[in-house]
Amino acid sequence: MNIIFIGASGSGKGTQAKIIAKKLNLCHISSGDLLREYREKGTEAGRIAREYMEAGKWVPIEIVVRLIKDKIADVQKESKGVQGFILDGFPRNIEQAKVLDIKIDYVVNFNNDLSGLAKRLTERRTCKDCGAIFNIKQLKDGKCPLCNGEVYQRTDDNEETIKARFNSFLTETKPVVDYYRPMGIVVDIDADKSIEEVTKQIERVIK
Ligand code: AMP
Repeated sequence: MNIIFIGASGSGKGTQAKIIAKKLNLCHISSGDLLREYREKGTEAGRIAREYMEAGKWVPIEIVVRLIKDKIADVQKESKGVQGFILDGFPRNIEQAKVLDIKIDYVVNFNNDLSGLAKRLTERRTCKDCGAIFNIKQLKDGKCPLCNGEVYQRTDDNEETIKARFNSFLTETKPVVDYYRPMGIVVDIDADKSIEEVTKQIERVIK
């Protein structure tokens, strides 16, 4: 089973993708995570990716598509009982949706009030050790409440970049939902609820 999670930055799609992937034995592929890893490699393409990300703009399609396709091919080669994929952050525009060549069973559409999300993003911290994501209020003495690791704030979680990302989301990513809707595979989720409630909503519709 292959699922696409579509939502604005901070919508909770990454958190839900981790939970649902574990429950259904799916491989969680986050384009943002792949790109963050890639931009550290010191290559020219990595430098370009960084520039776009730090400006809150979408990275050129040829870079992102190659990363996603290579990752899917690697996982399929290894197999290890994986039952499919959750694509988190990809496709982000219709051009990307059109080049995706795996069968999609569901598109989970995360609906949020964007004004609340900006605050959530500026208060978001990630653990360097276990990768878990928290609100600053959940930290224990400034450290990860799960493993006591150091936490960091993403460089693109600042007000100006957030504005640019929301703008691109509304103009380019939202139309992706309309692209898939006639196929009858879109599931609409109220993503402003608690983590547990959102998971339940997704589980109710994905079998
Ligand atoms: P995210 O972690 O999903 O919030 O993504 C962080 C940043 O990575 C975005 O603001 C974009 O600059 C870049 N990015 C992630 N996914 C894509 C994609 N599918 N296409 C282009 N750029 C992307």
